[in-house]
Amino acid sequence: MEYELLKDKKILIVEDDLSSRLYLNKILEKTGALLFNAVDGQEAIDVARSEPGIDVILMDIQLPVIDGYGSANKIREFRKNIIIIAQTAYSLLGDREKIFASGFDDYIVKPILPRQLIDKLINVLIKG
Ligand SMILES: [Mg+2]
Repeated sequence: MEYELLKDKKILIVEDDLSSRLYLNKILEKTGALLFNAVDGQEAIDVARSEPGIDVILMDIQLPVIDGYGSANKIREFRKNIIIIAQTAYSLLGDREKIFASGFDDYIVKPILPRQLIDKLINVLIKG
């Protein structure tokens, strides 16, 4: 029932690691969300620009071409209200301030558990 909130929401998954990307897609497919994928920071910016209806971006921090900080910062320039969630490694937790300064709304720590991811998404969507 809580999945109802995610149904038809447009979620952009930005992850350069193939197995992690497939894993996130597999979790989110069950929710009925419409999923988009990008494999580096530049592609994330391009998809955010060409798909104005995207509700949430799930952004890895360590990405090729442009990292998650730079991409979030750039996307924020033309999508003021989009929700951007950082996926961070434990080692990056010290960068919490940098995450928020870069325009992220929230973050989730890897390894990402299905329940935790869905709860996080529902949470940010309720908050708007
Ligand atoms: Mg990465």
